[in-house]
Amino acid sequence: MKPASFHYYRARSLQEALDLLSGAAANGKLLAGGQSLIPLMNLRLARPEALIDLNSIPGLSYIRSEGNKIAIGALTRHREMEFSELLAKELPLLAEAIPQIGHPAIRNRGTLGGSLAHADPAAELPCVLTALDARMVAAGPDGERVIRAEDFFTGFYATALADHEILKEVRIPLDRHPAGWSFVEFARRHGDFALAEASVLLFADGAGDRCTSARVVIGGSVEKPVRVQDVEKLIQDEISIRTQASSLAHVLRRVEQLTETEIRSSIAGRENPDYLCHLTGVLARRALESAMERWRKA
Ligand SMILES: Cc1cc2nc3c(=O)[nH]c(=O)nc-3n(C[C@H](O)[C@H](O)[C@H](O)COP(=O)(O)OP(=O)(O)OC[C@H]3O[C@@H](n4cnc5c(N)ncnc54)[C@H](O)[C@@H]3O)c2cc1C
Repeated sequence: MKPASFHYYRARSLQEALDLLSGAAANGKLLAGGQSLIPLMNLRLARPEALIDLNSIPGLSYIRSEGNKIAIGALTRHREMEFSELLAKELPLLAEAIPQIGHPAIRNRGTLGGSLAHADPAAELPCVLTALDARMVAAGPDGERVIRAEDFFTGFYATALADHEILKEVRIPLDRHPAGWSFVEFARRHGDFALAEASVLLFADGAGDRCTSARVVIGGSVEKPVRVQDVEKLIQDEISIRTQASSLAHVLRRVEQLTETEIRSSIAGRENPDYLCHLTGVLARRALESAMERWRKA
């Protein structure tokens, strides 16, 4: 199918895009990689009156280290992040998730900003960036504001971005380096959107043998990324590098059960809720196992 007719604007600067968004193209949509928007338009599930193409705006695609954070421009393609040595070194959790986004052709065009603004519950980046406590920089007619990832995703395909705002940059703090990390997902076929996913970050004390805190975030099976804080507390209370295999097996079982309990209400309304709950619990356990393995090898 072909999309319904629309006006096309090629913005040459962020300001021009913002002006279009609150003026001539007020009922329009921003076009980044087009990997989600164009299929929706072709299926006529989206019928924007206008498209504001962001691709000719200079300076929106970059990955750079800025002291105690990494800043990534909204127009940065998934592929650039996939092959970034800086991300592999500083943000291995993010680096682990990116190759699991669709297929190479999708990653060649799809952008960080497009994926986050689209807020597909099954996308990898919302889950991982919530675990990493990322900050989204939104530019609007009245200037910029910074939104924490936990507040950015507000529901099913919904974000805190206002109608006339553009996601400009994502900032990821580097103040604590994780001792262990893991992102795992389950999709029916390679390259499909995930049915469920789990991100785990473990932080250790100075000696590196006790877990002082953890961040565990679930995606895919829930309508927006969910931090499972009872699970985080359990890990913090029970896990150290010296935890014996039998005690660890017990903690892993409890992680699986607690995850199921914590997300059950968020899954209500989905098809096969029992299956999704169980799958999510299993993924949380596997992610913790893999994060522990990395911590031991470090
Ligand atoms: C076959 C297929 C498989 C895929 N598999 C996966 C997968 O497994 N995991 C996954 O995460 N994704 C997957 N995707 C989606 C892909 O990652 C897209 O790149 C992503 O969802 C959207 O990014 P985009 O740059 O293409 O955005 P676009 O499609 O251009 O835009 C998406 C939405 O975001 C808005 N938008 C874009 N940029 C901005 C901005 N800077 N500020 C505010 N709003 C903005 C647009 O107006 C639009 O509403 C798949 C896509 C396809 C076609």
